[in-house]
Amino acid sequence: MALTFDAAWDGTGVETALTVLRGRNVPATFFLTGRFAAERHPGAALLTAAGHGIGNHSYSHPQFADLTRPEAEQEIMGADRAIRRATGTVPLPFFRFPTAPRPRRASRRPTNWASRTSSSPLTPTATSERPTV
Ligand SMILES: [Zn+2]
Repeated sequence: MALTFDAAWDGTGVETALTVLRGRNVPATFFLTGRFAAERHPGAALLTAAGHGIGNHSYSHPQFADLTRPEAEQEIMGADRAIRRATGTVPLPFFRFPTAPRPRRASRRPTNWASRTSSSPLTPTATSERPTV
């Protein structure tokens, strides 16, 4: 089992999450957007200093189904660079899609996204958030 958080918008809650995790001696992985890392250096650095894993959550949190391959690569690599700069560390080889992948052909069939969100620290993987409305 892995406990993960996304950090995409602002630094609200970072210190609270760290305090709770430290109090219970629980490790976690935080998936940062590149924008979060670039704009919230102290928060990103705090996560790393506390010993938590850092994963890649894209640079600007786009819907990947709308991106070209070069745009998608730019999102991933841009986030990687920003995370390295902000934390001084290399992110884990985990990528979490910012939104649930949308099928190319519209489908209304419900999907069990939770089954796709677990990850092992030993193997690279991609995860995604639950779809938002
Ligand atoms: Zn997100």
